[in-house]
Amino acid sequence: NYSLERNNSNEAVQVIVRCRPLSEKEIEGKCTSVVKMYPSRGVIEVENPRARSDNEKNKMFTYDAVYDENSTQQNLYDETVRPLVASVLEGYNGCVFAYGQTGTGKTYTMEGKIGEEIGIVPRAFDQIWAHIARKTGVEFLVSVRYLEIYMEEIRDLLRMKSTKSHELREISGQGVVVTNLHSQTCQSARDMLKAMTIGNSNRTTGMTNMNEHSSRSHAIFQIVIEMAEEHSKTIKVGKLNLVDLAGSERQSKTGATGDRLKEATKINKALSSLGNVIYALAENSPHIPYRDSKLTRLLQDSLGGNSKTIMIANIGPANMNYEETIITLRYAYRAK
Ligand code: ADP
Ligand code: MG
Repeated sequence: NYSLERNNSNEAVQVIVRCRPLSEKEIEGKCTSVVKMYPSRGVIEVENPRARSDNEKNKMFTYDAVYDENSTQQNLYDETVRPLVASVLEGYNGCVFAYGQTGTGKTYTMEGKIGEEIGIVPRAFDQIWAHIARKTGVEFLVSVRYLEIYMEEIRDLLRMKSTKSHELREISGQGVVVTNLHSQTCQSARDMLKAMTIGNSNRTTGMTNMNEHSSRSHAIFQIVIEMAEEHSKTIKVGKLNLVDLAGSERQSKTGATGDRLKEATKINKALSSLGNVIYALAENSPHIPYRDSKLTRLLQDSLGGNSKTIMIANIGPANMNYEETIITLRYAYRAK
C-alpha cells in the first residue's frame, strides 16, 4: 500500500531522509545506532531502545529516497537536487529545505565543508554557472538574496546596517515580495559564494551564542535567474530557494520559559505550517495554507504551481535521540 500512496501523490514534491554517522562524542559516550536504512527501497527502520515487547520494537517508514551515513554529498546532489536546479534553469521555481533537530546535519547538507565535502548550495552555484557557460543564444541575469527569519522577523543578511524594515507585501504581477531586500547581481559561482560567506558572518554578528541563534532561525538563500532568449520577446525567470530551517527540537519540552518559550512556539508553528503546506501540495489539496507563517508566505510562489520542492529530513542514528528521530520521520512522512 506504500506504492499506491506514492502513485497518487504529487511528483513535484519529494521527501527524502538523510542520516549522519554517529559523532565521535556519541561513540565515546557509548551511544549505539538505532537506525537501519534500505536505500534501494527508500525504507528506514528504527529500533525502539526502550521497547518492552517485540511488537513495539521496530518502526518502518518509506520515502522517495533515503541516504545513509555512507552517502556522499555528490550522490545526494546528483540524484535529487540536480534535476530540480535544471528545471530552475528552464524557468521554473524550486525549493530545497533542510529539516531536523539541531546537530543532525542540516548545515552540512546545505553548505557542507567549503573546500572539502561541499554541500547543496555551492554545488548549485557550480551547476548554474556551468549551464550558463555552455548555453548559447540566451542572455542571463543572475542575482541573489540572503535573508533569515528570526522570531517571525525578516533580516537582510546582505545588508545588516540598513535600518529599513522588511515586510511581506503582495504586489500584483510579482506575487509576495519582501520590502527593502537587497538583491546582489552575480557574475560567477565565486560571486555567489562570496555573498553566502558575507551573509553567514552577518547571521551571527552581535549574537552571543552563534549556534543557538542559527538553530533558532530559518536561513533562506534565494537565487533569481532571468533568461532572455535571442529573437524572443519573453523573459523566463527561475527562482531557487535554498533553506536551512531552524532546529525542529521541541523547545517547549526543554523547560524554556519567557522569551525563549515564545521563540520556541514561533519556530514550532512555522515548521508545522511548512509541513501542512507541503502535505497539502503533495495531496493536491484545493486549499494550501500559505498564510499561516512568514516562511510559507514568502515562499508561496516557489511552493506549488509549476514549482518543485525537495524536503530533506535530517536525523542522527543515536539511541539517545530516538524520540526526536521518530518525530522527524513522522513529520517527513506526513509532509508526503
Ligand atoms: P545542524 O545544522 O543540523 O545543526 P550540522 O550540519 O552543524 O547540524 O552537523 C552537526 C555535526 O555533524 C557537524 O560537525 C557536521 O560536520 C557533522 N555531520 C553532519 N552530517 C554529516 C554527514 N553526513 N557526514 C559526516 N559528518 C556530518
Ligand atoms: Mg546548522
